[in-house]
Amino acid sequence: MDLRIGNGYDIHQLVADRPLILGGVQIPHHLGLLGHSDADVLTHAIMDALLGALSLGDIGHYFPPTDPQWKGADSLKLLEQVHGLIQSHGWQIGNLDSVIVAERPKIKPHIAAMRDRLADIMQLDPARIGIKATTNEKLDAVGREEGIAVYAVALLIKPES
Ligand code: MG
Repeated sequence: MDLRIGNGYDIHQLVADRPLILGGVQIPHHLGLLGHSDADVLTHAIMDALLGALSLGDIGHYFPPTDPQWKGADSLKLLEQVHGLIQSHGWQIGNLDSVIVAERPKIKPHIAAMRDRLADIMQLDPARIGIKATTNEKLDAVGREEGIAVYAVALLIKPES
């Protein structure tokens, strides 16, 4: 059995008149995340962790923000493609873990729904998807509610062939 680990990081600005989508779940809030796609910062960090584990580059390479094709894109659809790429190389996900750093809104009530959506897209047991949330203790841009950041780690497994 072969193992690989990858990490991903992403941050998006919080602005008015945008939906707040994390892990494919729309969360009620007066601000949302700015981006070319739906700006789902959690899904973006997870995709980068998956790609990083196999040295396949990053999401900017596959879904460049300059390409109008990805304007307003549903990031779960992009994750589906990235997961397919991982599988086409003969790898499967051992587990994922992530930390959402947001001052507001409260993320915890939405974590179960995010895990279910991500698990569904990757045909994974939700128990293999860790999502945690913390504030930035009012420090820096995230602490001033100017954005939301996410750190993610992925462990990939290639079964003995
Ligand atoms: Mg992003």
